[in-house]
Amino acid sequence: MDNPQRRLRILKEPGAGPIINAPPVIANESHTIDFLCGACGTVLMHAHHNQPLHHLLIHCTECGANNATDA
Ligand SMILES: [Zn+2]
Repeated sequence: MDNPQRRLRILKEPGAGPIINAPPVIANESHTIDFLCGACGTVLMHAHHNQPLHHLLIHCTECGANNATDA
C-alpha cells in the first residue's frame, strides 16, 4: 500500500530557518505522507500532514533545490 504523496514548494532563496539535507529520507513514522522534492520528485521525508514543520527547509541533495515545508 502506497503512502499518499505531496510535493513541497520550492524556495529560490533559503530563509533564516533551519535547513536539513535529504535524502537520506527523513522518516518520523511509518504509514504517513511521502513528501517529495518540488523540483525533481525525490522522496525527502515521511511525516504526518498535521505535524508542525513550519519554517523548516529541506535541501534536496539530489538536485540542490530548497523545499519549504510550510506550503
Ligand atoms: Zn530535488
